[in-house]
Amino acid sequence: MTDTLDTGLAVVTHWISGAESPSTSGRTSPVYDPALGVETKRVALASLEEVDAAVASAKAAFPGWRDTSIAKRQQVIFAFRELLNARRGELAEILTSEHGKVLSDAMGEITRGLEVVELATGFPHLLKGEYSENVSTGVDVYSLKQPLGVVGIISPFNFPAMVPMWFFPIAIAAGNTVVVKPSEKDPSAVNWMAALWKEAGLPDGVFNVLHGDKVAVDGLLEHPDVKSISFVGSTPIAKYIYETAAKNGKRVQALGGAKNHMLVLPDADLDLTADAAVNAGFGSAGERCMAISVVVAVEPVADALIEKITQRMATLKVGDGRRSCDMGPLVTREHRDKVAGYIDVAVEDGAVVVVDGRGIEVDGAADGFWLGPTLIDQVPTTSRVYTEEIFGPVLSVVRVASYEDGLELINSGAFGNGTAIFTNDGGAARRFQNEVEVGMVGVNVPIPVPVAYYSFGGFKDSIFGDTKAYGEAGFRFFTREKAITSRWLDPSHGGINLGFPQN
Ligand code: NAD
Repeated sequence: MTDTLDTGLAVVTHWISGAESPSTSGRTSPVYDPALGVETKRVALASLEEVDAAVASAKAAFPGWRDTSIAKRQQVIFAFRELLNARRGELAEILTSEHGKVLSDAMGEITRGLEVVELATGFPHLLKGEYSENVSTGVDVYSLKQPLGVVGIISPFNFPAMVPMWFFPIAIAAGNTVVVKPSEKDPSAVNWMAALWKEAGLPDGVFNVLHGDKVAVDGLLEHPDVKSISFVGSTPIAKYIYETAAKNGKRVQALGGAKNHMLVLPDADLDLTADAAVNAGFGSAGERCMAISVVVAVEPVADALIEKITQRMATLKVGDGRRSCDMGPLVTREHRDKVAGYIDVAVEDGAVVVVDGRGIEVDGAADGFWLGPTLIDQVPTTSRVYTEEIFGPVLSVVRVASYEDGLELINSGAFGNGTAIFTNDGGAARRFQNEVEVGMVGVNVPIPVPVAYYSFGGFKDSIFGDTKAYGEAGFRFFTREKAITSRWLDPSHGGINLGFPQN
């Protein structure tokens, strides 16, 4: 943060060519401390000239980084991993102060991002090409996995550190140079990581941060020097990103929103299931794309399960994430009001509000963006409470008569990000993993975010494009393959033959 505009607040600004780059656009947007409910900073909103500057920095750094030896690149990534691991507490405090999630959850977010950094340290193994000797007499064919060039990463507010880390460690390891456009709601985490990269020895210009809104995003989508876009955010924007980036000739992966169901069979361990529902429904105030937002209870299990969930909800301490609470505030006042509005909709639509989080007492400032954990039973599947992504601490219960009814409900939804089945019946679980049309499935695990050496991504409206995040898919996305056909002349060569070579 370098400059201030007329607000007197510090401005989070771009990071270009290895240094903070004061904003020249004259446009900024507020950044809040959600637990205090006050604006603490501003964030710069880039102009198209600033988009050009960030991309030019990455473009200039590309040839040097691409041609840096594997051993040297690996040293830099190891150094970044060590620094991040040692200083993750600092980053967690930044996350809590701008996003609101409790400190322990912020540490968890960083740990999941670190996993991808650790995967990236092993990149030499994942970037090996293939070699076939003598495909024709004296002719060999082999492949190279080469970086794309300048890659763009556009991230959402709910994981300001982890989601960028789904992409940039792999992109950088593979030899690309990066421009990250973080969410304007909690922009500081990526700047902090930019400074860490510099300390780790990454050459200037390989990692750039561009803050902004639609102007910055559209600038990246249309920029001829940006070769790919990795996006995570809401479904309407993901679809727009996918279409616009593709129209501009870019490789694109765009991960969208979610509405994740937990199917509970009557034989499930209800204590385990209730713990899981509370953890997955209210962790990070429900602002997770893998949060459970609908419990699908196969009767006669609903009443007993709701009782157990309700008991656990009564023990949750809501408050400032710096004060050892279980659940923090929502990210902005506007978002809190939108989420709370769904509780009104539930009442209008005839659902039963079992626990109402409005007006909750909190351990924190009165002006924080609070909404307590909320449980709504008998949600009609026609209600907007059921059909729309709420992205807050509102857990719905839908009662069904059978496994088949539950499965049909889940498969008829627009999203397909995550889901989980809770049961003690291995056969039912096996059938579910086969039949459910969702990209990430948990069996007695409520938030089945794959470890870094698998890949993250859903189905249907939860992803646009055909490449998931991280894992081997990440390496495929950030490289393009070149096939070389080679013949070294020997004394027997010669002759003219206009046909395709065959043997
Ligand atoms: P969002 O779509 O509002 O914003 C995401 C990014 O897009 C931000 O950087 C923002 O600046 C930019 N953006 C917003 N409006 C834009 C526009 N009109 N044109 C161009 N760019 C625009 O999402 P959010 O509110 O920050 O994040 C929450 C959403 O992200 C939820 O829907 C959640 O499910 C989703 N999400 C999905 C995943 C996943 O892996 N599928 C992971 C995390 C979050």
